[in-house]
Amino acid sequence: MTTTGLAEPFLRAQLETLGLAVEYVRAEGDTLYRRGEDGREIPVLDLVGGFGATILGHHHPEVTSLAQELLAAQVPVHAQFSLHPYAETVARRLNDILRRETGDPGPYLAVFANSGAEAVEAAVKHAELDRGLKAAALLERIGESIERARRAARDGAPLSPAAQRLADGGDFEALAAAVTAVNRARAEEPPVLLALSGSFHGKLIGSVQLTHNPAVREPFRALAAPCRFVPAEDPETLAAAIAEERRTVLGLALCGGAVDLVEHQLPRLCALLLEPVQGEGGVRPLTAGYAREVQRICAEADCPIVVDEVQSGMGRTGTFLASSAIGLRGDYYVLAKSLGGGIAKAAVTLVHHGRHRPEFELLHSSTFAKDAFSTLIAARTLDLLEADGGALYRRAAERGERILKQLSGVRDDFKDVVVDVRGRGLMLGLELRDQSDSPSPVLRELSRAGVLGYAAAGHLLNAHALRVFPTASAVTTLRIEPSVGITDARIDQAEAALRALCEVLRAQDGERLLGR
Ligand code: PMP
Repeated sequence: MTTTGLAEPFLRAQLETLGLAVEYVRAEGDTLYRRGEDGREIPVLDLVGGFGATILGHHHPEVTSLAQELLAAQVPVHAQFSLHPYAETVARRLNDILRRETGDPGPYLAVFANSGAEAVEAAVKHAELDRGLKAAALLERIGESIERARRAARDGAPLSPAAQRLADGGDFEALAAAVTAVNRARAEEPPVLLALSGSFHGKLIGSVQLTHNPAVREPFRALAAPCRFVPAEDPETLAAAIAEERRTVLGLALCGGAVDLVEHQLPRLCALLLEPVQGEGGVRPLTAGYAREVQRICAEADCPIVVDEVQSGMGRTGTFLASSAIGLRGDYYVLAKSLGGGIAKAAVTLVHHGRHRPEFELLHSSTFAKDAFSTLIAARTLDLLEADGGALYRRAAERGERILKQLSGVRDDFKDVVVDVRGRGLMLGLELRDQSDSPSPVLRELSRAGVLGYAAAGHLLNAHALRVFPTASAVTTLRIEPSVGITDARIDQAEAALRALCEVLRAQDGERLLGR
């Protein structure tokens, strides 16, 4: 350990190695301030944007002043098990927005939470409750069908050839026991969770299993239900995976006077989760064509779709929901990050009423979720997003296009070090070329250790006062997620810094990259 400390000392040592161990003392708009040796504040242009949490920028004046007013007015933060009119306001506004963007009348019922991962888990928990209740209802109906068949058998109805085979030559009771055993075994199989390769849905015990990156997922695989990952933009593989997971259970019915077997589809698919623009997977938007196929396949299989808009939502990509721009409709939507206006911890899971289970409200809760402070901040944030007939969404799209154009210029001029630039609105990524075979031992080593993107971030911070970070699972992609307030001058500043970084990489100058 190169440093002492009790708060994540290993991480701190890593940050120090990469030139990223910086303390920020103030934040405003797209700027974080660090303190110089002379005590003066040094502005840093922040394109990390709280990993997507600051669509309005740091300390938007209206959000911050509301927070101050709420504390001054002693608004009760803790009033669990009472009425929550502010949460209701947020839920209503979200429903208005969803109705406008998706065309679905809904309504969607809201479950509040504190973080993205928690809200993802609430969606999955709800989907599993719904699946379990449907399976239980089916098994109950089957139990009733067995009773009816038993009465018919007592009245002399014979067993059909298929029923005789399952009863292994035995009587009706042998058949009933065999049917019950088959059904029990099938119903006890774990639920099927599906997500896309490259996905990121959180890092808690349940949600980390839905996050594709094996390095963060596998150490914890024994703790929660595993997920089946399918490649993005490949509907055939999704359809094949769903077909493979299909299970039926058996019921009995009278057919032509004989007791016969009937197959029923067992609800096994808990949910398919997807991000309309994969964020931590390297900023990869899904296409409208793929979304259409996913919608069709999931509707046919009755597989609920959980649209994770934790990073892409709240107007970042030019519409409130990134999914609405590609025509993807969710049974569940998950929002977090910018919902808290850049200062509160707020998240919400929206459940389509067609799947909603009232029982869930008594089964799931969290002390801080739905508190007046975070929901009032969320309501004000939604007001700001929706003001002036959606001017903010148009601005996010316009700013994003401008940045993308400038980044594309960088890519065109530095094809040897930049692989790709991509994204939508203010959710953009610039992918650096892998340097594992670089003639520079430093670049080679950084690349092979998976920290080239972090070293680039350290260089941009220390040489150009620009804060960017790689995405969590695709570590050579630099994430660019400023606020809607980003100015032309700051975009130009970022472009100049990225061009300077590319010059250093083109020169294969590892020492300079590390500021030595
Ligand atoms: N889903 C997505 C799409 C995310 O990008 C993230 C965070 N990067 C999460 C879930 C988890 O959110 P949190 O960090 O608030 O738990």
